[in-house]
Amino acid sequence: MSGYIPAKLKIMREEDSKLNVIVVGAGLGGLGAAISILLAGHDVLVLESASEIAEVGAGIQILPNSSRVLQSWGMRAALSLHATRPKQVNMRGWRGNLISSMNFQDSASNYPGTFYWDFHRASLHQCLLDRAIELGAAVQCNSRVVDVRICRDGERAWVVLEPGREIEADLVVGADGINSKLREVMLRREDPAIPTGDLAYRLLLSTSEMMKDPELASLVTDPQVNYWLGPDMHAVNYVLKGGKLFNMVLLVPDDTGASTLEGNVEEMRALFKDWDPRIPKLLSMCESVYKWRLCIRPGMDSWSHASGAFTLLGDAVHATLPYLASGAGMSLEDGAVLGECLSRITSKVSAEKQMALRVYEHCRKGRTEMVVQRGNLQQYLYHLHDGPEQEDRDRRMRMVPTPPRE
Ligand code: FAD
Repeated sequence: MSGYIPAKLKIMREEDSKLNVIVVGAGLGGLGAAISILLAGHDVLVLESASEIAEVGAGIQILPNSSRVLQSWGMRAALSLHATRPKQVNMRGWRGNLISSMNFQDSASNYPGTFYWDFHRASLHQCLLDRAIELGAAVQCNSRVVDVRICRDGERAWVVLEPGREIEADLVVGADGINSKLREVMLRREDPAIPTGDLAYRLLLSTSEMMKDPELASLVTDPQVNYWLGPDMHAVNYVLKGGKLFNMVLLVPDDTGASTLEGNVEEMRALFKDWDPRIPKLLSMCESVYKWRLCIRPGMDSWSHASGAFTLLGDAVHATLPYLASGAGMSLEDGAVLGECLSRITSKVSAEKQMALRVYEHCRKGRTEMVVQRGNLQQYLYHLHDGPEQEDRDRRMRMVPTPPRE
């Protein structure tokens, strides 16, 4: 079939070339890495600090590059049951004026076999967990890793868990997210994430109320991704779960010193009261909300320990502003490349692991650093105040072809 992306087959290995890999963190990046490393024929233990494997109640956009990766892991059928496929993305000014649209079907056809998919995070996360377990992953919760020790010849590493227990591995992969402990272990110093000056209000609405208002109903029945761009702020929304849920993210100046806080609904509504009337209407349906302080990690000089027994992946290395909807996509790509590099290993000796990690880092560093920088640029462009620079931005956005609607 044209554009079909085949699922990889699991490599069968002799014991002497099979690595025992510990992945620290069962987020989207950690589970993706586990799948990819299992497909490369190695054994994987995933250690997660939380008491259960779960994701935040919010939506996530999966772009063609990441849907391609997920399909190569044999997840197309499972994910199709949970995915919403938006027809297009609309960029609007804050008063609601349409700036430009991009047709996702046309765009995806440039990359045959790929999709734009929107998920409830819990669905995507569960599918990754199911696939990792199906391929043979062992997953342990209540397992906070506080240190990684590497033996002198670099052949083995030990993760140290909070109560002092140690587990041995041939390779440790730190996928412990933006506030990564393993990044600090690698760097041997504290290294907090960098605040961006923005925070996100994240909310999920049930669409049943929206359907009573024709203006809002059209946002549900005709699945699209909508962006509203305004001075210092922007808003994004799309539907999930076949139209049952409406995901909304509001990106505003950061007025908090903490990472996640319960937000004040009135305060949030006041910020958007003069915007496209659909936004205040939507916000009037919201009863409670959380604020997420948005931080970044611009990258690292080196992602891996020289021994070849310890490396990092995902937000732990290159957390980005979510303005390109690409942070999880980059984590999934990291996992795909790491698995591909580890699939070439023919023995457990350090030199082979070192080479695999060098190639992994070489393939991923430039691309992920570019995405973090482009995320920062989007922050500037999306939040322009009305004026000549904003008009120039809109003119350039119109160069993306608009389908004949609205
Ligand atoms: P995480 O998801 O943070 O996972 C880390 C895991 O490690 C967690 O389970 C944690 O409990 C565990 N852990 C932490 N410390 C330890 C420890 N010491 N020991 C053991 N376990 C530990 N990306 C997209 O691609 N598309 C989008 O549409 C999108 N929208 C976003 C919207 C918002 C508002 C935000 C904030 C982000 C968005 N992202 C999006 C980015 C995406 O969520 C992240 O890039 C992605 O979740 C990172 O995955 P990760 O596995 O690296 O880290």
